[in-house]
Amino acid sequence: MGGVTLGKLCFGKDTMQFGIQLCLSRAGLEANAVTEQTASGCDILLVSMFWYRDIYALELFLRKAGIRKGTGKPYILVGGMQATMTPEIISRMVDGVFVGDADDSLGEMVEEIATTGQCAHPNVYHEGDESVPDPCVCKPSAFAVLTNEKRGVVRVEIARGCKYKCAFCALGHLKPYQEVPFSELLPVIHKARGRRCSLFAPERTRHSEWLEIKAALKVAGCHDIGQDARLEHLMEVDGATVTFGLEGFSARLRKSIGKPFSDDMVMKRLGEFVETRKNIARVSVYFIGNLPGETEKDWAAVWNLFERISAAEWSRRLVLCPVLNPLSPKKFTRLVDAHVDLFADYGTRWSRLLRRDGGQWGFRVVETLVWGPLERTMDAIVQRGGAAGYDVVRRLPDKILKGKPPLSERATVARKILATCESAGITQQQLEG
Ligand code: SF4
Repeated sequence: MGGVTLGKLCFGKDTMQFGIQLCLSRAGLEANAVTEQTASGCDILLVSMFWYRDIYALELFLRKAGIRKGTGKPYILVGGMQATMTPEIISRMVDGVFVGDADDSLGEMVEEIATTGQCAHPNVYHEGDESVPDPCVCKPSAFAVLTNEKRGVVRVEIARGCKYKCAFCALGHLKPYQEVPFSELLPVIHKARGRRCSLFAPERTRHSEWLEIKAALKVAGCHDIGQDARLEHLMEVDGATVTFGLEGFSARLRKSIGKPFSDDMVMKRLGEFVETRKNIARVSVYFIGNLPGETEKDWAAVWNLFERISAAEWSRRLVLCPVLNPLSPKKFTRLVDAHVDLFADYGTRWSRLLRRDGGQWGFRVVETLVWGPLERTMDAIVQRGGAAGYDVVRRLPDKILKGKPPLSERATVARKILATCESAGITQQQLEG
C-alpha cells in the first residue's frame, strides 16, 4: 500500500480518537490528522463519528474543505458508533459507511480502495444499497492510547457490550458482551506505570477480573481516573467523584427501563459513597426525560427524592450535578419507536427543580443545560430521518451547522428546520414517533 496517503478526522475531544487509533494500529497503518486545508491532499479519508452532532460537523467540514463523495479525491470512509446506528443518512455524504467494529477490517479495506477505488467489504454500506449489513463484531484487545487531555491519560478498553440491557441504551444491545482478559491487560498496565489511566467499558466495574485489574493498577502506581459506575457499584470507585445513571424520575420509570432502583436504595448507596470519601463528594447523576409513561407523579417522585437527599445530614458534604437528557430513541433498543415531544419544555421545569422553586437545597447543585427543541429536532433528523435526513442537513446554513444560536432563538430555528423537513418529505410526526 506504499504511496497511499491516509487522513483521519474525528470531532470533539481527544478521547473520541480511540476507535480510529485502534483500527489503524491493528492494520499496521498510520494516518495524518487532516484540517479543512489539507483533507483534499489525501487519498483515503477515515472519519470517526460518535454522535448526531458529528453529521452536522462533517457537512460543514466537507463544505469548507471543498471535497465531495464520488470524486475519489479522497475516498471518504466513515466508521464509529453513529455510523453503525444511522448509516443511511451518512452514506449520502461519503463513499462508504462501515457498520460495526472495524478493528479487524481496516487493513483489507484500505488495500481494496487503494487498488480499485471501491470498497465492497460486506460490512460497508453505500448510498442506495438494498439493505444495511448487520454490525460487524470484533473481540476487544489490550490496546492503549495516550491522550493529551490534562497531562496525558492512558486509555484502555477492557470490555465491549454490557451485561445489563437497559431498554434505552444501544451499548447493551448492539454487541455481545466481551472482555479483554486480565492476563492481556497486565502488560499494558505495567507499561503505563505511574500514569493516570482510564480503563473503560460500558460498565467497567462488572469486568469479571475487576479486582485483579484494580490491584495491578495500584502496584504499578497508576491513578485510575474512571468515574462511571452503576448505582449498585458506586463503592468500586476510588476518589470522591462519581458519575452514574438513574435515568427515570421515579422508581416505577427506572424499573421500566431496566434500572430497578428504589428511592431507599438510592439514598443508601449515595449516602454510603458520600460518607466514606475523604473529601467533599462530587456526584453527577444522569436522568432521562420523556420516558414512555412519564406523568406528573414521576415529577413529584424526583422532587421527593431531592427532599430526602436534602434532609440527610451527609448531603452537606455533597456537590450534586443532576443532568437531564430528554429521550433520544436509538436503533437496536426496545425504545426505538418511543414517542417523544420535541417541544416539551424540560429546561424550565428542570431548572425549577434544581433551584427548589426559588428556595435552596441542603446540598450544592451544579446546573447544566437541558437539550431543547433545536438539539432534539437535529438529533431526531439523524436518528429517524433515514437517508432523506440529508436533504435537510445539506440545506442548513453554515451558522446552524457550526453552533447553537442564542437560547431564546432556538425554538424558532427548530420550527424553521421542521419546515425544511416537511419539504424533504419528513414529517414532525415521523420524527416524534
Ligand atoms: S445504561 Fe449502562 S448499565 Fe445499562 S446497558 Fe447501558 S452501559 Fe449497560
